[in-house]
Amino acid sequence: MPEWPRRVLVTGGAGFIGSHLCARLVDEGAHVIALDNLLTGRVANVAPLLGHQRFTFLHYDVTQYLHVDGELDAILHFASPASPADFERLPIQILKVGSLGTHKVLGLAKAKHARLLLASTSECYGDPEVNPQPEAYWGNVNPIGIRGVYDEAKRFAEAMAMAYHRHHGVDVRIARIFNTFGPRMQVDDGRAIPNFFRQAIRGEDVTLYGDGSQTRSFCYVDDMVEGILRLLRSSYVGPVNIGNPNELSLREMAEKVVALCGGNSRIVSRPLPPDDPKVRRPDISLARRVLGGWEPQVKVEEGLARTHAYFASELARLAIDP
Ligand code: UDP
Repeated sequence: MPEWPRRVLVTGGAGFIGSHLCARLVDEGAHVIALDNLLTGRVANVAPLLGHQRFTFLHYDVTQYLHVDGELDAILHFASPASPADFERLPIQILKVGSLGTHKVLGLAKAKHARLLLASTSECYGDPEVNPQPEAYWGNVNPIGIRGVYDEAKRFAEAMAMAYHRHHGVDVRIARIFNTFGPRMQVDDGRAIPNFFRQAIRGEDVTLYGDGSQTRSFCYVDDMVEGILRLLRSSYVGPVNIGNPNELSLREMAEKVVALCGGNSRIVSRPLPPDDPKVRRPDISLARRVLGGWEPQVKVEEGLARTHAYFASELARLAIDP
């Protein structure tokens, strides 16, 4: 069992990746304080941890003045809506949590002498002109486009984390997280994998945006959590790509999901949203090198099978208790 961190704050602790991190850290023996304003997170994601003596849940907005009693070894800043559907629904909240929220957690990290791990994103690369994307690529982002609210908030967050590191000596880690999937994604969150499963399990048309030739590289959540915790415990300061280098087109992904769900759905075309990246694949050479040979272990088929089981039970539950 790792000895460190002993006491850790996870912002966005009731979110998709945040709640998996909380569960894993509690399991490893840490005291975990999960903070979430429940804008896109859900208490159900941390329900198994409620009542555990080493777990505390705080319903709180990280953009407000932040006070946490006692010592903290580490802060994992995972609060933020992250689905492109949210970019149009919650633009101001996204900008605020990436800027004001990151400022608050960096101030707290400085006061507590805690290490701060920032959940950054492959969106820092925008619609990339380089594929795969290494950390040294500065990106191709439209600052005023609909995705700009998320991309620029996270780019600002990275800039602020590095400024606190250089100016105040705060110990920072930056994870550039690529597409991730698995249990606890919300069925209606609007991203490709939840949409495809919801539609295919119900036998409805599966909506493919554009011609489906755009690519993504999907990482199963357990591999993501392992990469993030290795980064937290590493000595590397600066952005590290964490994701699965296995790239496939969205049409291929839609076909896999439809086949897994019984093959009753048609794949139908819908307009491609503006600024939708045409390709995305992480170069994980740096992660392999500084995270002790880390690389994804779960094959996409295996990850999809586990995710299918989750969405099937979640949709059955929602049918009884919407
Ligand atoms: N997409 C799609 N159908 C959907 C939802 C998304 O074809 O119902 C596409 C979307 O246009 C993008 C890709 O799937 O090209 C991945 O989208 P997602 O929302 O999962 O996240 P992104 O990687 O764009 O941040």
